[in-house]
Amino acid sequence: MTPYQKIALVTGATRGIGLETSRQLAQAGVRVLLAGRNLASATQAAAALQADGLAVEPLALDVTDSAAIAAAAAQVKATYGRLDILVNNAGVLLDAMDRKPSEQTLQVWRDTFDTNVFAVVEVTQAFLPLLKAAQSGRIVNVSSQLGSFALHVDPASPIYGFKIPAYDASKSVVNAWTVHLAYELQGSSVKVNAIHPGYVMTDMNGGHGELDVPAGAKSSVQMALLDESGPSGTFTHMGKTLPW
Ligand code: NDP
Repeated sequence: MTPYQKIALVTGATRGIGLETSRQLAQAGVRVLLAGRNLASATQAAAALQADGLAVEPLALDVTDSAAIAAAAAQVKATYGRLDILVNNAGVLLDAMDRKPSEQTLQVWRDTFDTNVFAVVEVTQAFLPLLKAAQSGRIVNVSSQLGSFALHVDPASPIYGFKIPAYDASKSVVNAWTVHLAYELQGSSVKVNAIHPGYVMTDMNGGHGELDVPAGAKSSVQMALLDESGPSGTFTHMGKTLPW
């Protein structure tokens, strides 16, 4: 009998934390569907990991495109009939750094929420039946400590006074969505958790950060590989609980 191999889908996996999460999951023996905004970018990113002998295949998935989400879910259903791990990693930071919160445009708010919030909900809804069809489904929502409302109002916290409201609020909503979905999934085999990857040296931060990209992928990988005794409905960084 062929041993059971977990199937993972990582969104926004063409660079940064998503690409590294795909690498680490594949190194752990998981078959990874490396999802990119289009097939060309996904194929190019997957090729780099395939060259290292990893079981990775490209998947076209612009997370803001409803038709693309439906097509990707149909493709995964037809090929595998299940999905063990969904990592909602794709994200954008669009707030203009030189503007006050009151000056960020409504378009920035809308575009931020399209990718960071509505896409997470829609992708999750599309793949939830496949996650339920797996032995034990895992959903990882890549949030940020900038989504922590408790930290924003704590003068002693490192993020007190941060001024990128659309991004921060989008991650607060991801956290709320995580809690609501975890309540719904109580008693099922599917667990859902939000993580903060750390302040990671990726394009999103212009290469600045405290963690290199391999370290920045660890929190996602840890929650993706949770065993049966693991929690659901949490918000953590490297396993350490963060305030909501
Ligand atoms: P990057 O900007 O390096 O990479 C973002 C990835 O998301 C790219 O692969 C990009 O694809 C993809 N993406 C964006 N929009 C879409 C879309 N509509 N459809 C498909 N893919 C899309 O970011 P990071 O790796 O730093 O961030 C990954 C996640 O981690 C994000 O959710 C971010 O908010 C979160 N995070 C990051 C932190 C950090 O310090 N870096 C801190 C806290 C949270 P493309 O190349 O096509 O644009």
